[in-house]
Amino acid sequence: MPELPEVETIKLGLEVLIVNQVVERIYLHRANLRWDIPKHLVTTLANQSVNKIRRRGKYLLIEFDVGTLIIHLGMSGSIKVLDSNTSLKKHDHFELVFANKKSMRLNDPRRFGAVLFSKDNTHPLLDNLGIEPLGELFDNEYLYTKSRKKQQNIKAFIMDSKIIVGIGNIYACESLHKAGIHPERKAVSINKKYYATLTKCIKEILSRSIAAGGTTLQDFSAVDGKPGYFSQTLLVYGRKNEKCTQCGCKIVCITQSQRSTFYCKHCQQ
Ligand SMILES: [Zn+2]
Repeated sequence: MPELPEVETIKLGLEVLIVNQVVERIYLHRANLRWDIPKHLVTTLANQSVNKIRRRGKYLLIEFDVGTLIIHLGMSGSIKVLDSNTSLKKHDHFELVFANKKSMRLNDPRRFGAVLFSKDNTHPLLDNLGIEPLGELFDNEYLYTKSRKKQQNIKAFIMDSKIIVGIGNIYACESLHKAGIHPERKAVSINKKYYATLTKCIKEILSRSIAAGGTTLQDFSAVDGKPGYFSQTLLVYGRKNEKCTQCGCKIVCITQSQRSTFYCKHCQQ
């Protein structure tokens, strides 16, 4: 599943390739993904120039004078920018063809992704999002303050997008290991010092991953269509029964909220 670093990597790639480019044609090769794709995009975006690309959580926001195209990659979405005469692939569901004969295509086999539109930069999906993990609002006090009445476990707490956006399963496991916090600890039980460490670890891990081009577990491709297999060393995620890089103990895998959690019993207390 594309997580925040992947989406940020795509954003950076798209900035180079499509900002200031004019949309010539819009294709809805399919009427719906998770929700219906607005049919009016075919006319609304025609002859519009891309002003800016932003990311909010895992949403890509492509801004035009007439409004903002909101894209979410869901479980299996990917975006490529190719020559417009390149033949379509199976699951290429949405396409913008630019005047420079390049084509931006959204491919999404499982169709949990979304293509939506907002005239005024607001949308119910964006309105209740928590703060950005790489933004200034995410300081040493934030998680501590927000966690004071939270009985849920720390992993669920940092994955709650109403608190903080973009920390998916992989980065939650990795950050908790780096900070030395057991994933089953109640959020309320963790002290200020550990929250400060966790905050630093989250920022470090996400930044390092963005620098490496996103963590790639499956078939992620860079937006220019070249294969982009970036990998960074994961400390615990996907390493069940392998040795912890810190202490040599076996990494354990448990299930929390139907998701796999990997951790080290020795390093994370
Ligand atoms: Zn360990």
